[in-house]
Amino acid sequence: MEFNNKKLERTSKLINYLIAIILCGFLISLSGKLLDDVDDWKERPALEEFQNKEFLKTNYSKIKKISSKIDSIEEKKSSIKNTIKVVNSNYDNAKQSYDNWIEARKTIGSPKEDKEVLKRANELDKYYKTQQDWEKELTSINEKIKSLTKKTYKINNLIEQENDRAYQERENAIRKYNLKIFLIRLLFIIPILILGIFFIIKYRKHKYWPLFLGFVLFSFYAFFFGLVPYLPSYGGYIKYTVGIILSILFGVYAINKIRTFIEEKKRELKTSTTERAKKVKTETAEKALDNHMCPSCGKDFIVKKWDKSAGKKDKNETYGIVTNFCRYCGLELFKKCESCNSENFAHLPFCSNCGSNMNK
Ligand SMILES: [Zn+2]
Ligand SMILES: [Zn+2]
Repeated sequence: MEFNNKKLERTSKLINYLIAIILCGFLISLSGKLLDDVDDWKERPALEEFQNKEFLKTNYSKIKKISSKIDSIEEKKSSIKNTIKVVNSNYDNAKQSYDNWIEARKTIGSPKEDKEVLKRANELDKYYKTQQDWEKELTSINEKIKSLTKKTYKINNLIEQENDRAYQERENAIRKYNLKIFLIRLLFIIPILILGIFFIIKYRKHKYWPLFLGFVLFSFYAFFFGLVPYLPSYGGYIKYTVGIILSILFGVYAINKIRTFIEEKKRELKTSTTERAKKVKTETAEKALDNHMCPSCGKDFIVKKWDKSAGKKDKNETYGIVTNFCRYCGLELFKKCESCNSENFAHLPFCSNCGSNMNK
């Protein structure tokens, strides 16, 4: 690895983030697996648990009996239908023969043979009566089938009602079951979230912060996204409420942090410049010099010179000059090296010209 300070800093930052993201990814996968498996810890309520099995059994057997009865009656019905066909054709034949006979009698026979007419008419009547009897039988059988079908329908209705009731009960049980599963998942995720928040507050300066950061990222992902597929209808309320509370807490924390930092800086600026100069760290000095700002109060130390002869609109910045002392807080910025007398930034440890120690 090349020892280039800026590059090194960037690379180490990148590696830290990479460590955090990889750890976070594995934690997310593991927790996702666990959240998924919670469902297997308990049996999901089944419909059979809520059905009145005895009731259903008797009614189903009743329906079976009735339908076999209907089947046998249907058989009978079809044989009656066949008989009726025969009887009908018998009657038709008899009628035809009677009509023919009457016709013949009109032309050749004596019209006074009333007895013969009566006898033949009676015979025809018998055929007719047989036909009517069978028709009646068919009607009564149809009635029987109708009433049996009605009975089946009623029993089916009862079964349906019973199933509806069982279904409703099971729905309630499933709602309760889902709530329980959701609470288990929540009880699993909430401590993770709290631990993540604790890590943010406590371990930001820790040597192993990238690892803690991985956990923090995971904890937030787990609560705000990992839990989403398992949320019940009101789960959104929980999610957003926790989000609002966390935003407020972090907001308050950040505002207070910034405030105390500013207060501290202000207090620091009140101490003497020599006191402050001692407190400036090399890396702060390095950054301050890069951005030409005072390492104590943070203000720009380059004074802009303006070309005053030009008009107001064309007032161009012509050049900047560097001041030896900060115009805002009085801190010494540049000083002469005691050995070689060349000008140096006062807060870096060695002279740029001769290399002797500046902090003698
Ligand atoms: Zn200053
Ligand atoms: Zn020098």
